[in-house]
Amino acid sequence: MGRNESVLQGLPRTREWQEDFYRDLHSHPELSGQESRTAANVARRLGEMGYAVQQLGGGVVGVLDNGPGPVVLARADMDALPVTEQTDLPYASTESATDETGAVVGIAHACGHDVHVTCLLGAAELVAQGASGWSGTFVALFQPAEETASGAQAMLDAGLVDAIPRPEVAFAQHVLGLEAGTVGTHPGPVLSAGDSIRITLYGKGSHGSMPHQSVDPVVLAAAVVMRLQTIVARETKPGEFAVVTVGSSVAGTKSNIIADRAVLLVNVRTYDDGVRTHVLSAIERIVRAECEASGSPQAPTFDYYDQYPLTDNDAEVGEAVTASFREHFGDEHVVDLGRVTASEDFSRVPDAFGIPYCYWGVGGFAAGTEAPPNHSPFFAPLIQPTLDTGTAALVVAALSRLGEGRA
Ligand code: ZN
Ligand code: ZN
Repeated sequence: MGRNESVLQGLPRTREWQEDFYRDLHSHPELSGQESRTAANVARRLGEMGYAVQQLGGGVVGVLDNGPGPVVLARADMDALPVTEQTDLPYASTESATDETGAVVGIAHACGHDVHVTCLLGAAELVAQGASGWSGTFVALFQPAEETASGAQAMLDAGLVDAIPRPEVAFAQHVLGLEAGTVGTHPGPVLSAGDSIRITLYGKGSHGSMPHQSVDPVVLAAAVVMRLQTIVARETKPGEFAVVTVGSSVAGTKSNIIADRAVLLVNVRTYDDGVRTHVLSAIERIVRAECEASGSPQAPTFDYYDQYPLTDNDAEVGEAVTASFREHFGDEHVVDLGRVTASEDFSRVPDAFGIPYCYWGVGGFAAGTEAPPNHSPFFAPLIQPTLDTGTAALVVAALSRLGEGRA
């Protein structure tokens, strides 16, 4: 028996509690930064499995030291979304919360992070029980607040780098609209970098009938919005990918008042750090120049928020993981994920350690059906074979990098 098979022998027993755990977690979703119940359950179970458990930055990290050898980290995200679930699952969420405007919003695991938590806990148990089959250290990391791009950073800010042994490689996965039972990998950039910028343009307020006494921020904003379109059209190499979207442009209250400022909300997506740096600097350059052209009385301000780093799979690690998946799941169950335009904050963790990583997709839906996209109120992955596949994928990837066993 190969060591994948030997460690995965325990899956039928693990599966028994995983399915119950998953249904419970699905019906008790928690918003980004508020994952206290989930984190407590994860910490308790990791402790029972023999992991050294630490809670930091709202997340949980368990370390299983199994002798000399490579250190491998696997990560899951724990947060749910402000979405009112509209599936007819018997374990659908009925949770709700009050948002900052006072409105009641439903809460649901509409991105499937409950799948990620359940699979990583199952994998953690399997590698602990099968510890004679490998050597090294396995680190199971559960981060909060992926949906607000802040949870990985919160764990780093709380001292993650010094709290665990330095991994040599990191893994993470996401349940997506692929067929359940399949996994999808892709070398190189797999998820886009995402940046949001709140830009404030300063004008000089006046009466609408006295424009000569104003610096009109509406005209300034209009010039900026038009000129920003040239970054992709004229400054980005044909064939390179970039998106610059002005999602919001707000100024003024009344037709006969010239406002004193305008606020633009701009979103940028890229797959290449060089392109990203260029696009962001081009935005600042154009905005500053247009402000100067308008005679703006004050320099514009740029407030960056919801920033997601690029997810760029290491070629060598990606190839090794894909080969292990093909061997374990069979060629027909391993697909090319391609590039996904969504974004993730996972890579902040491997980037903080300066280590390579691989991020892959796990199928969650029946063949031939149209899967609702992640974040849809109808998002309802099949429990099986989704949990088995995601659990086995983590075990197989980890074992592909861990050392030989004693057995
Ligand atoms: Zn999401
Ligand atoms: Zn997600």
